[in-house]
Parts: sequence; structure tokens; C-alpha cells
Amino acid sequence: MKNKNMNNKIIKFEELSWKQIDAFDKDKTVFFLPISPMEEHGPHLPVGTDFLISRDASTEAIKHLNIEKSDYCFVQLPAVPIGYCKFNSDFPGTISLSSSKTVKDIVFSIGESLACHGFKYLVICTYHMALTHLKGIYKAIKKLESKYDMKLVEPWSVYFYSDQIEKNEPKLGFDTSKEVHAGFRETSLMKYQYPYLVDESYKDLQSIYRDLNSPKVIGKKFKDLGLKDGYVGSPARADPDYGRWFFNQTVNAYKNAAIDLIDGKKPKELPRKVKQTMKALFWQ
Ligand SMILES: [Zn+2]
Repeated sequence: MKNKNMNNKIIKFEELSWKQIDAFDKDKTVFFLPISPMEEHGPHLPVGTDFLISRDASTEAIKHLNIEKSDYCFVQLPAVPIGYCKFNSDFPGTISLSSSKTVKDIVFSIGESLACHGFKYLVICTYHMALTHLKGIYKAIKKLESKYDMKLVEPWSVYFYSDQIEKNEPKLGFDTSKEVHAGFRETSLMKYQYPYLVDESYKDLQSIYRDLNSPKVIGKKFKDLGLKDGYVGSPARADPDYGRWFFNQTVNAYKNAAIDLIDGKKPKELPRKVKQTMKALFWQ
């Protein structure tokens, strides 16, 4: 399958036969699993925003890896349009699993199906940063690594919840860390990657802020928090140049995490505070 002249070719799992899959060097094959739910993203962005970005960024990361780590094989699994997002299920367009535990079961099942045939490496690409959803992913990672000779990583939340975005981003004069849902960051991303899917009404949307990880909001839905249009942040400020920068941050996070994984480096961890909050959350 490996061909040095085909660096831009993405190997897609769904297009392979079992014979071709079996022929991969098990120790040198890295699977990418894009997984993000359909979820309302304000009145101006498509419900597939997280899904599209995590899939596209994994495609780009694989293109780079095909060149930088050409002795390895990178395979993209079909993007899985699921996740736990009960938070904003009071809007049509959000499709949430009924329990965050199901996220764990799905990721575990996919990993286990690969591990049973000797595969070792799995990069989980999600753009949905709700801690209940991430808890499912992290529980699955832990279970897979303890049960099988497998190494997994979920790179984006580690970067997202660190202060690296704010430290590295172009100076803007406002705090982008509050742009948590369909706000400046995601609207910029979509203005860059899918401009034709961004409704022009984004220019007139007023800024609105809420801390969605505060204990005070547990059990509440978006409309209970006064988020009547389903976004948190300031979409009107969207800038496709920032979108390009942000998209490339994601690509680099995926790519670097994959390199660390195959080089045997311990994956970077979530900040302690985030881990503690996640741990304290009950399965919902
Ligand atoms: Zn999103």
C-alpha cells in the first residue's frame, strides 16, 4: 500500500478489503478516528461543525505524516458523527447519545476491534470539548491501554484546555478563551474552511458569555442559561485568517501527538484541574 509518490493519498479504512488491512505492518500502522457529534452551533453554523473540522484536520495531519513518517502507515477511519451533548439538546439539530457512557463503549469497541488483530496505535480526533463527552473517551483509552498492547491519544482537549492557544495566537485585544461554542474561534474556523456554510447573519450576533464548565450550570441546558440562539462568544468578530491559524493548530496537535505516540513518548496530559473536574462528574 505504501507508495512514496502518493503522499497526498489518504488511506481510507472503508475502502480497504480485510486482506489489505491484514497486510499492514501492525507495529507501524496508526489509525485516526474522527469522532464528534451533530450539534447545534448557533443560528449561523452547521450542526456538523465539530464533525467536519475534526475530520478535515485529521486528513491534513495524515498528509503531513505521510511525508514526515513515511515508514509508517496512516489510516483514516470513517468519521463517527456521535458524542454526548445533552447540554444543548434543547435545540433541533443536536443529536446526543443518551448516556456519556455510550461514548466510552463506542470508542472502546472500535479500539478493541483493531487491537484484536494486533494493531497498536489509535489517534482520537474529537472537536467536541464537553467534559462529559471527553470523560467517555478517556475512560475508553484507559481501558484499552490496560487490556491490550495499545497506545492511544486524544490530542485536542489537551491543547484546548491548556493556555497554549492564548499564548500562541495572534494578538487580538480580547480574551478568546471565552469563545467556547460557535463564537469567534469556531466561526473563524468555518469562515476559513467552509465559508459557504456560514450564514451571513453571524455579523449581527451580539456577544454572549457563559462559563459552561462551572459547577453552577450542571444539569442546566443552554436555554436555561439564557443562550437562546445557541452560541457562546462573539461570532461577529470572526476572521478567516484566525480560522486558518486555528485550523493549523489542530492539524499540528494531531500530527505531533501521532509522532509522540509512535516515538514512545508519553502523551501530554490534561491540566490537573480539568482532570479533577472530569473525575468528579458522574456518568450522565
Ligand atoms: Zn464546536
